[in-house]
Amino acid sequence: MGLTITLLGTGTPIPDPNRAGPATLIRGAGTTVLVDCGRGAVMRLAGAGVMPPMLDALLITHLHSDHITDLNDVITTHWVLTMQPTTLRIYGPPGIREVVDAIMASLRFDIGYRLAHHEDLTWEPQLEVTELVPGTTLTVGAATVIVAETLHFPVEPTIGFRFEQGGAAVVLAGDSIPCEGLDSLCAGADAYVQTVIRDDLVKLIPFPRIQDILDYHSSITQAAETATRAGVGTLVLTHYVPAPPPGGIDEWIAIAAEHFDGQIIAGDDLTSVTITPAEANS
Ligand SMILES: [Zn+2]
Ligand SMILES: [Zn+2]
Repeated sequence: MGLTITLLGTGTPIPDPNRAGPATLIRGAGTTVLVDCGRGAVMRLAGAGVMPPMLDALLITHLHSDHITDLNDVITTHWVLTMQPTTLRIYGPPGIREVVDAIMASLRFDIGYRLAHHEDLTWEPQLEVTELVPGTTLTVGAATVIVAETLHFPVEPTIGFRFEQGGAAVVLAGDSIPCEGLDSLCAGADAYVQTVIRDDLVKLIPFPRIQDILDYHSSITQAAETATRAGVGTLVLTHYVPAPPPGGIDEWIAIAAEHFDGQIIAGDDLTSVTITPAEANS
């Protein structure tokens, strides 16, 4: 059945009433994984029919706030919806353990209130946190996940993931400009999910803080070039800056199509595509 990619949140740090923060769901037979958990991630997970206890794992690409805003919500909701002690597995770059420890400290009062109030809830959140270094391969659900370094300087370290299951390979790049690690992850992949910005429009926004994002995000063109160079089958765009108006996403797809011949997917939150090995780079 391959792997299904669902864009839970296509937004960015810029608040948007219609776009949740960066979060992507990967599903296959025996595999349910959340990659990043930005603003509204748990709400959008519910929209995709997934509750946190159904997750095999949460994978984090980097520790920028927009990608981890709802980590506390994933932890708490996973905990209160389980009927017996159940481990939430969290994987991320070095530093993720410190972040989770700090979140757990902030949840101390809430955990105490709920343990005191619910007689059947006798355990604290059960977490297993693993810091990943590039080159690691792990098993998550029924998928094999390969970890590689990406480039989002000065945010360090940042990592991307290649999911392989049932002959399908799907890459979750996170925030990155083109680089060797990204090329190695994408080589021959069936699908490649890249956070992108429209550099042509961002350049017109007269705020220094917005101009700063130009040097550490892939433009649509760069993402399409990476996809072409790697021989990817499907390019999936997310994390849109600036957010396209209703119907405006077609322009984004058209720009990518100038540099990439394969299937291009982009859209609103909960846009979904299933990647089967049969669709592999024919
Ligand atoms: Zn970032
Ligand atoms: Zn981001």
